[in-house]
Amino acid sequence: MTVGSAMYEHGRKCWFCGNYGLSRLSDKRVWCGKCRRKYSLHKLRINLKVLYYFYLEVSARKCARELNLDYETVAKRYSAFRNAIIKFLEQEFKKLHGRVEADESYFGGKRKGDRGRGAFNKQAVFGILERKGRVYTTTVSNVSAATLLNHIKKNTRKGSVFYTDDFKSYKDLKQYGKHNRIKHSKAFGKGRNHINGIEGFWSYAKERFHKYHGINKKNYFSYVKEMEFRFNHRNKPLYPLLINITRQFAPKMP
Ligand SMILES: [Zn+2]
Repeated sequence: MTVGSAMYEHGRKCWFCGNYGLSRLSDKRVWCGKCRRKYSLHKLRINLKVLYYFYLEVSARKCARELNLDYETVAKRYSAFRNAIIKFLEQEFKKLHGRVEADESYFGGKRKGDRGRGAFNKQAVFGILERKGRVYTTTVSNVSAATLLNHIKKNTRKGSVFYTDDFKSYKDLKQYGKHNRIKHSKAFGKGRNHINGIEGFWSYAKERFHKYHGINKKNYFSYVKEMEFRFNHRNKPLYPLLINITRQFAPKMP
C-alpha cells in the first residue's frame, strides 16, 4: 500500500475531515475531536484495499475472492468509487478547445460481427478528444445530428477546429468552428487530417472494458466515465488521487 493511505490506515489523520487529532476508543474504533466521527480503522483498511484493487483494475469478483469478502459488498464499493469519479470529473471539467476530434463508437454486444453503427445490443458512446489533451465521453441513446452536436456544443469552446469522419450526423458541425471531415477511404491518417487520437482512446477504453467481464448495460455510463478518468490522469499517480476522490465524494464505509 502506498504512503498516501498510511496516515489514514494508522489512525493519524481523520478519514473524514483530515484532522490529526484522533483518539483510540476501547472498542478499537477511533474518535475525531474535530468532526466528532467515530469509525473503525479495520473497516477503513479493508476499504482502502478494495480501492487498491479497483485502482489496479481487478474485477469486483476477483477482488472479493482475493480479499475473502462478499461479492455484493465489493461491487457496491466499486460502484461508489465510480460515482465518486463521475462527481470529480464534473467538478474538474473545462470545455475542450483547440484541435478537437469527435467520434462515436460501440461498446459491448456479445455476437461477433456486430460492428458499426446501429449494431444490435451494443451501447453507443460518444467521445470528444482535445489533441494532446483530455477526452470527454458519454453514452448516447442515439447518434443523430441533434444528439451529437448538442454534446459538442455543451462540451467544447466555440471556434475550436473539429475533426470527424464523414458520418452524416457531423454534417452541420461547421456552425461551431472549422470542420475537417475525413473520408475513411481516402488519405486516412495523413498530416493533421485524422482522428487517430479519439480512435486511440477507443482502443484504450475497450481493452480495459474487456477485463471487466459481463458489464450490465445500465452501468456502461459509469464504466465509460471511469475510462475517461483513467485516460485523462494516466500520467499521474492514480492511487493517491483515488484516495482523495473517495474521501471527498464517497467517504462512507459499509
Ligand atoms: Zn474528523
